[in-house]
Order: sequence, then structure tokens, then C-alpha cells
Amino acid sequence: MRITAPLAFRLILGPELRLWAKAGHGPVLWWRDDDARAPNEALDKLLELSRRHGAPLTLAAIAGPHLAALVRRVEVEPAIEIAVHGFKHINRQPAGRGFGEVVPEDSLEWVRAQLRATVMAFHKAGAKPTLFVPPWNHLTSQLIAAIDDSCLTAMSAFGEARGSGEGFVRLDTHLDVLRWKGGGRFRGRWRFLSRMRRLMAQRRISGQWDEPMGLLTHHMDHDAATWTFLDQFLAVFPTRARQDLTKTSPRAARALSA
Ligand SMILES: [Zn+2]
Repeated sequence: MRITAPLAFRLILGPELRLWAKAGHGPVLWWRDDDARAPNEALDKLLELSRRHGAPLTLAAIAGPHLAALVRRVEVEPAIEIAVHGFKHINRQPAGRGFGEVVPEDSLEWVRAQLRATVMAFHKAGAKPTLFVPPWNHLTSQLIAAIDDSCLTAMSAFGEARGSGEGFVRLDTHLDVLRWKGGGRFRGRWRFLSRMRRLMAQRRISGQWDEPMGLLTHHMDHDAATWTFLDQFLAVFPTRARQDLTKTSPRAARALSA
């Protein structure tokens, strides 16, 4: 890490990064931002950050009346991927059971139909997404089965290791820049960087140097401290494009072996 990196970065991550460097490795990071519905000032700010730092970004978008305008706005950016962020992003869980769009009672047929209609809405808006991001990172067996036999090839939630199911590759996020209890606000650099240090140590000890860590942001909920931190973070750590990290599509592998 450069000597110009903010002190907190050097104090919290410096020793771990030195161990990585000694072994000839650096952390593999990628970046997902959720809840894009329309072009606006916060989105412009996010895209400017991505451009300035040369940081590829996956934008999880919600199909709605402004999706086509959103797609047009993002089209002119060099390294932005649009992903499908749920059907309507409406919480259907009963009170006290957390947040999620799909409930256990939903039939697989219904979930499949919702997914098909949503992907169609993205196509109509001019986007060809290949990644699904469940709202609130809430994954259910019906969703897994529906993605499995859709035209989507990847899925992203929170906290798990990269892996592949039958028909898609999973690539999660792990580092949420916000905390959500009592309303979204900056998690704090010590909390965020300490979690990153733990994730890096796990990867180093198990020898999984290439296991990606996903940065998660929500541009509509960032306060000033979040924007500042994000700018500093992206100046220190390069991110990789999502597509690069899910290249081993199981479908492609099956096609090759067939
Ligand atoms: Zn969301």
C-alpha cells in the first residue's frame, strides 16, 4: 500500500497486506452497487467515481418506469454492467421475518414467470443482463431453480464463497460500506477495514488467494462520509470486472464437455 494511503488503511490493513505481498499476492476485489432505478445526481456521482478510478462496476437495477433512461445513461460509460435486481424490489415477508421478495409459499412457476417478465423488461429497455441480484440478498430455493433455467448465467447475494450451481456461477459481495440498523449510514472505516482484514486473513490461511471479495454500495443511501471513504478505498484498491471473475460459466463448461 502506498505511503499516501490514509492512516487507518495502513494501520488496519498494512500488516496483512505485507503478508500477502510476501507471498506474491494481492486481494481480488469487485464492486456491486444496488437499487438503481433512474438517472440522478447520486448515480452521476457513482459513475464519476468508477470512471476516475478506472473501477469496473456492476449496477443492480430495478425494472420500473425509468429503466430505459437508466440504461441509456449507463451505456455511455466504459465499464458498467447492468444486473437484474429482483422483480419489483417489494418486500413480501411477513412482519418480523426480515426482508425478501420471494416467500416460501410462492410456486416455482410463479417465480419463473416473474423472472422471465423482468428479464424481458430489461431487454425492452435495451440491456442484456446476465447477472441476478436478489433484493436484500435474500435467496430462496425457488429463485435458485428459476435462475438455473433462465438465460442468466450468474447470481450475486452476500457473504458466501464463489461457486457454481448447475446453470449459473455465484459471486457474492462481502463488504457493505453501509450499516442498516436505524437507517442506512456509513459503517465506519474501522469496522469496514477490520472486516476486510478478517476476510483477507481467512483467504491467506486457507491459501485461497484468488477468492474474490465483493464491495457493496447503495448510491441512493450514501452520506458524505460514505462518499469520502469510497473515494479513498478505490484509490488504494483496484477492482476487477464481475464478468472476469465468473468466466467459468457452468453452461460453457457443459457445452465444451458435451
Ligand atoms: Zn436492493
